[in-house]
Amino acid sequence: MTRLEFEGVSIDIASTRIVSEVSLRVKPGEMVGLVGPNGSGKSTLLRSAYRVLRPSGGAALIDGENVWSLTAREVARRRALVTQHTVLGAEFSVREVVAMGRTPRKGMIERDGERDHQVVEQALDDVHMRWAARRSFSTLSGGEQQRVLIARALAQEAGLLILDEPTNHLDVRAQFEVLDLLRQLGRTTLTALHDLDHAVSYCDRVAVMAEGRLVTVGVPAEVLTPELVHDVFGVRAVLDTHPITGRPRIAVASVARC
Ligand code: ADP
Ligand code: MG
Repeated sequence: MTRLEFEGVSIDIASTRIVSEVSLRVKPGEMVGLVGPNGSGKSTLLRSAYRVLRPSGGAALIDGENVWSLTAREVARRRALVTQHTVLGAEFSVREVVAMGRTPRKGMIERDGERDHQVVEQALDDVHMRWAARRSFSTLSGGEQQRVLIARALAQEAGLLILDEPTNHLDVRAQFEVLDLLRQLGRTTLTALHDLDHAVSYCDRVAVMAEGRLVTVGVPAEVLTPELVHDVFGVRAVLDTHPITGRPRIAVASVARC
């Protein structure tokens, strides 16, 4: 299974330092949540692993190889992305969207082979969306669309999944469906999350960013203490055990209301 490392990654945009010397390792099969206030640099850090932004210092490495020493195609075979607000221009069927994940695995004009079909069907099964294979992607609910985009990532057969706030704009049940699915898949996963309770109840470890820096990383229930949540997010927090799941949970409240 794939591993991902950020080694002292710094990123400047228009000569402003957006990410400062972030070192973080995502071990094979591990699900790591990246949390931090808006503008703390989560998406920017993730983009360095997509091979979209070239760091001004340090490197993002997939299985020990600097993503900038690999071609875009090689990187696309190793990591798959699910970003927020994915808009697909034309009308595609669900199956066509998932089949797009095969692109980095094929020649320019190569047609889909038997194996491509098998992988696409398997990916549709994995996200429980085969029933919708012929539906137009744009007619699905937000949660269903997100599951299809995860299927597209699975069809890429990359060992590493990188997601940027994959539960945004989803209703509560659809949020859990996406997170349950990610856990069930068991791939090496790095996901930015804005809901601290999701981070604490789903992730093996959580990395906290503030102002472009990595503040801390560790087991969620040890890292997301009320003190840290107050300092980084400016809200009050209670960390206890969820009465239904028995897993850790975080409830937050406005400082002004208590
Ligand atoms: P997050 O994902 O944690 O909300 P981002 O990585 O999107 O944070 O943004 C971090 C900071 O970088 C923000 O202050 C944002 O305005 C700035 N930033 C991000 N992309 C650009 C860009 N292309 N040009 C200028 N500033 C940017
Ligand atoms: Mg972001």
